[in-house]
Amino acid sequence: MDAGDEAQAHAERARGDVLAGHGGRFRPPCLEFCHDCGDRIEDARRQALVEVGVTRCISCQQVAERRR
Ligand SMILES: [Zn+2]
Repeated sequence: MDAGDEAQAHAERARGDVLAGHGGRFRPPCLEFCHDCGDRIEDARRQALVEVGVTRCISCQQVAERRR
Protein backbone atom coordinates (compact mmCIF):
# COMPACT_ATOMS: atom_id res chain seq x y z
CA MET A 1 0.00 0.00 0.00
CA ASP A 2 1.52 3.34 -0.97
CA ALA A 3 0.81 6.79 0.43
CA GLY A 4 -1.93 7.44 -2.11
CA ASP A 5 -3.86 4.31 -1.13
CA GLU A 6 -3.46 5.18 2.52
CA ALA A 7 -4.93 8.65 2.00
CA GLN A 8 -7.79 7.15 0.00
CA ALA A 9 -8.58 4.62 2.72
CA HIS A 10 -8.50 7.32 5.35
CA ALA A 11 -10.87 9.52 3.35
CA GLU A 12 -13.34 6.66 3.01
CA ARG A 13 -13.22 5.93 6.71
CA ALA A 14 -13.83 9.58 7.50
CA ARG A 15 -16.78 9.69 5.14
CA GLY A 16 -18.22 6.58 6.80
CA ASP A 17 -17.96 8.21 10.19
CA VAL A 18 -19.83 11.27 8.99
CA LEU A 19 -22.63 9.15 7.56
CA ALA A 20 -22.88 7.03 10.68
CA GLY A 21 -23.00 10.09 12.90
CA HIS A 22 -25.59 11.86 10.81
CA GLY A 23 -27.99 9.24 9.51
CA GLY A 24 -27.07 6.24 11.60
CA ARG A 25 -30.23 6.44 13.61
CA PHE A 26 -33.65 7.19 12.19
CA ARG A 27 -35.33 10.11 13.87
CA PRO A 28 -39.13 9.98 13.83
CA PRO A 29 -40.98 13.20 13.04
CA CYS A 30 -41.62 15.51 15.94
CA LEU A 31 -44.10 18.08 14.72
CA GLU A 32 -44.69 21.45 16.32
CA PHE A 33 -48.30 21.46 15.20
CA CYS A 34 -50.81 18.63 15.31
CA HIS A 35 -51.11 16.79 12.02
CA ASP A 36 -54.84 16.30 12.53
CA CYS A 37 -56.21 19.56 13.96
CA GLY A 38 -53.29 21.98 13.57
CA ASP A 39 -53.14 22.88 17.26
CA ARG A 40 -49.72 23.54 18.71
CA ILE A 41 -48.28 20.48 20.45
CA GLU A 42 -46.95 21.26 23.92
CA ASP A 43 -43.17 21.42 24.22
CA ALA A 44 -43.26 19.06 27.21
CA ARG A 45 -45.11 16.46 25.19
CA ARG A 46 -42.76 16.75 22.23
CA GLN A 47 -39.72 16.47 24.48
CA ALA A 48 -41.16 13.46 26.28
CA LEU A 49 -41.91 11.67 23.01
CA VAL A 50 -38.94 12.81 20.92
CA GLU A 51 -37.65 9.21 20.68
CA VAL A 52 -40.88 7.81 19.27
CA GLY A 53 -42.07 10.88 17.41
CA VAL A 54 -45.05 13.16 17.84
CA THR A 55 -47.48 14.03 15.08
CA ARG A 56 -50.65 14.74 17.06
CA CYS A 57 -51.78 16.73 20.05
CA ILE A 58 -52.99 14.85 23.11
CA SER A 59 -56.68 14.91 22.22
CA CYS A 60 -56.14 13.78 18.62
CA GLN A 61 -53.75 11.08 19.82
CA GLN A 62 -56.42 9.77 22.17
CA VAL A 63 -58.98 9.72 19.38
CA ALA A 64 -56.52 7.90 17.11
CA GLU A 65 -55.74 5.31 19.76
CA ARG A 66 -59.40 4.70 20.49
CA ARG A 67 -59.99 4.16 16.78
CA ARG A 68 -57.34 1.45 16.62
ZN1 LIG B 1 -54.87 17.70 17.33
